[in-house]
Amino acid sequence: MTDTHYDVIIIGTGAGGGTLAYHLAPSGKRILILERGDYVPREKANWDSQLVNVEGHYNTKETWIDKDGKDLHPHTNYYVGGNTKFYGAALFRLRKEDFSELRHHGGISPAWPITYDDLERYYTQAENLYQVHGNRGEDPTEPPTRTPYPYPAVSHEARIQQLSDDFARSGLNPFHVPIGVMLNEKDRHRSRCIRCNTCDGFPCLVYAKSDAQVLCVDEAVKHPNVVLLTNALVKRLETGFSGREVKNVVVERDGSLETYSADIVVVSCGAINSAALLLRSASEKHPRGLANSSDVVGRHYMGHTNSIMMAISKCPNPTVFQKTLAVNDFYFGAKDFPHPMGHISFVGKLDAVTLKAGAPAIAPNFTLELMANHSLDFWLTSEDLPDPENRVTIGRDGKIVLAYTPNNLVAHSRLQAKLKEAMKQTNCSIHGHECHQGLFGRNLYVGQRIPLAGVAHQNGTIRFGHDPKTSALDVNCKAHDLDNLYVVDGSFFPSSAAVNPALTIMANALRVGDHLLGRLGAERSENVQGFAMVD
Ligand SMILES: Cc1cc2nc3c(=O)[nH]c(=O)nc-3n(C[C@H](O)[C@H](O)[C@H](O)COP(=O)(O)OP(=O)(O)OC[C@H]3O[C@@H](n4cnc5c(N)ncnc54)[C@H](O)[C@@H]3O)c2cc1C
Ligand code: SF4
Repeated sequence: MTDTHYDVIIIGTGAGGGTLAYHLAPSGKRILILERGDYVPREKANWDSQLVNVEGHYNTKETWIDKDGKDLHPHTNYYVGGNTKFYGAALFRLRKEDFSELRHHGGISPAWPITYDDLERYYTQAENLYQVHGNRGEDPTEPPTRTPYPYPAVSHEARIQQLSDDFARSGLNPFHVPIGVMLNEKDRHRSRCIRCNTCDGFPCLVYAKSDAQVLCVDEAVKHPNVVLLTNALVKRLETGFSGREVKNVVVERDGSLETYSADIVVVSCGAINSAALLLRSASEKHPRGLANSSDVVGRHYMGHTNSIMMAISKCPNPTVFQKTLAVNDFYFGAKDFPHPMGHISFVGKLDAVTLKAGAPAIAPNFTLELMANHSLDFWLTSEDLPDPENRVTIGRDGKIVLAYTPNNLVAHSRLQAKLKEAMKQTNCSIHGHECHQGLFGRNLYVGQRIPLAGVAHQNGTIRFGHDPKTSALDVNCKAHDLDNLYVVDGSFFPSSAAVNPALTIMANALRVGDHLLGRLGAERSENVQGFAMVD
């Protein structure tokens, strides 16, 4: 065994790779983690909305190409912890029904090769590890579980509580968003989280967001058997003579190429970059790209149909931490539209600086400042369906090409209509129904005018399944075509559902982690516990 050979190499440190590294670290096996980015610097800029939201300070400066050959500036982040450093930490389980085939207005959402019950205990483990705060029993579409959330829900501030009461009075079932922030509301003095207004989309300066760096990678590297190399960009994977095993992992670091090897190689670069890596690793034995005899690698890209809807009211909205309320009453449909519509929740409170970056038509008699002070900023998510032509490929110049045509859009417009209807029924005690001025659909743009939602929820490009002809990965997320290659980021999703993806990626990484521990002859840990929050 050489210094460059490991038991396991994990490529990428986000929701998938970071969680897996945490799970495998206590095994004593030699683990190498390769991350193309560095740590997010801890600096005041972390919480500067001009820099973060408007200038895209922490986004990659890489350019990709869209289906029309135009430059695309992806809103994605390459750092230790991956996109969890910037996420809103809304940590949802998929619904039980999401694992089965579902008929949508725009087509079929296919079944997964595993059921909710197969993932249930890993969801519980992931919720413990990522310190999810929530209340069971409020969300009418919540899948079954016997275990409570590890921490109580983050409370609504007054304006959001008022909206929740209004929604409830009109017959909806608003609920508290399950969220991964280390907030101790009983003892704010000792709480790591300070409940600030720069959470969703920002890195947490005080390390109180449940992200994969703070909770997983930092813990994993405390084990002497785990090595992390940052600024280590994996360029390609090479197979040996048989073509059945990844033999070399070729890495660019400090301007030169290095080669590492491992008994097991796990790719977790995010759904777009993982597909790109496999496609770039084409060889004589794998002419269409590694693990791609099925020709599905890169295809079926999904990222949800998302929109931000601002409801401007006469009453101000002084909420600091807005992402506490959600509504799933239309998730599977309604009497007047018997097809899934999706999920309604919130983004972090928008401010005037952020609005400037992609202002909608300004409401009559409002300035941007006034609008920001009076808006409720909803986030709507509908499922997009897997289309083989929505895909990642590699252009002749080596750049990522992302071709995407939105689908199932009627579901999303019906969801928007449902929100507008629900808002009409809200009745403020000062202004009555007149309080509500209107809803503005709005794409939030960063510096290069790319929609926020562009690639934030990327998934589906290396789908798992039973049939090697129609899927790239087997049920354990091992490549059908190779004996030692696994993928544990959001690529494995056969359908995108309509809740945020990260908890499912984390739970699946724990599930695959158990399989790998078995394969490595190491012990499985039944209870994955996070480190204790200060409370
Ligand atoms: C602003 C924002 C808000 C979000 N809010 C939520 C939310 O509230 N709830 C939710 O569930 N989800 C949310 N998401 C989505 C969530 O962050 C992702 O679903 C999740 O992080 C994806 O995990 P992953 O492991 O697939 O990839 P990532 O977390 O993106 O990790 C991939 C890692 O691989 C590294 N990498 C890439 N290529 C290479 C390479 N060639 N070599 C070495 N390393 C490489 C990257 O640097 C990165 O660290 C949000 C995302 C964004 C951007
Ligand atoms: S302090 Fe709390 S609310 Fe603010 S960024 Fe950190 S986790 Fe989010």
